[in-house]
Amino acid sequence: MAYKITFIPGDGTGPEIAEAARRCIEATGVKIDWDEKYAGEEAQAKYGSLLPEATIASIKKNKVAIKGPITTPIGGGFRSVNVALRQTLDLYACVRPVKYYPGVKSFYKDIDLVIIRENSEDLYAGIEFEEGAPETRKLIKEIEGFSNKTVRPDSGISIKPISKSASEKIARFAFEYALINNRKKVTCITKANIMKFTDGLFLKIAREIAASYEGKIAFEEALVDNMAMQLVQKPLNYDCLLLPNLYGDILSDLCAGLVGGLGVAPGANVGDGMAVFEPVHGSAPKYKGMNRVNPTAMILSGVLMLRYIKEGAAADRLEKAVKEVLTEGISVTYDLKPDPKDPTAAGTKEMADAIIKKLK
Ligand code: NAD
Repeated sequence: MAYKITFIPGDGTGPEIAEAARRCIEATGVKIDWDEKYAGEEAQAKYGSLLPEATIASIKKNKVAIKGPITTPIGGGFRSVNVALRQTLDLYACVRPVKYYPGVKSFYKDIDLVIIRENSEDLYAGIEFEEGAPETRKLIKEIEGFSNKTVRPDSGISIKPISKSASEKIARFAFEYALINNRKKVTCITKANIMKFTDGLFLKIAREIAASYEGKIAFEEALVDNMAMQLVQKPLNYDCLLLPNLYGDILSDLCAGLVGGLGVAPGANVGDGMAVFEPVHGSAPKYKGMNRVNPTAMILSGVLMLRYIKEGAAADRLEKAVKEVLTEGISVTYDLKPDPKDPTAAGTKEMADAIIKKLK
């Protein structure tokens, strides 16, 4: 029986890479009945909403989705379709494997770590107060009353909520992930020395959960600023990285840079019994319609999706095909060529064709 999976093409270059990934996934022979739905600019134009109810309903029903990146409109009421999607569906864990593939320009070889980022709260909760607004002035007065601290009256304010319950969920997820995926160590990364009641709470909960995995999965703690340096200098020392939302977002891009850039970094947003797979990168709108950007991150997101639906053999075959094309370095997009202006660089579609050829 075919799997029913929600397919969201996305904005900018999203539809091009999403189509490339769909073709590669289909070429593995796994039967999928794609439920195509929209989010972002196209959804706004067609249905008057950036995130239509039908799209949410489809993911809730199918439990699995793959999506291209979506442009975040600047200004206006909607903060980010991606953040809204993760919050609406309670996709509380963002999983981003960081793996070196031979042939990709990279500072290090043999990197194989995974970022597990809390996806639902922290400074990304979207609780913000604009500079000069009456409620901001009121809030500043309240804060000054409660805390004996002064806040400059011309401040904007973003709230950073970190809860016990969400921290517990993500910490448990990280240790379970490590166990299932044969990983050895979880490193919890915070700034708990400064933000004692938020990052401090996240770390305290992580320590408690770690205790119940003692002897199975090692646990260590790090401060995010130091970790930024450690990852650049000694990335091979790390395995699973557990982080609150904002630090996870920033270090994901840093880690993507360690293994060849955003073009090869896949991701998954996972909740209880539900997952949405998407590349780490954005919609790269300047390349829209040019058949130019690298489809690898989206195709590798498809590999993660195949593993999630327990089609491990198909996932392994597709990953191997991607690896072969990357290693050969011939039918690859401009960003994977030693010279990005190389006229022999493949287009998005042609790189997908080369991967599909390897699957035959
Ligand atoms: P971006 O990731 O789109 O682009 C950053 C840089 O990386 C650009 O130079 C781009 O050319 C390059 N790049 C990205 N993907 C590439 C690929 N597949 N192949 C080759 N080069 C690639 O980030 P941005 O420009 O900051 O964001 C553009 C839009 O995407 C914004 O509206 C942003 O909010 C949105 N965004 C969406 C998601 C998502 O949907 N999950 C994630 C990040 C950003």
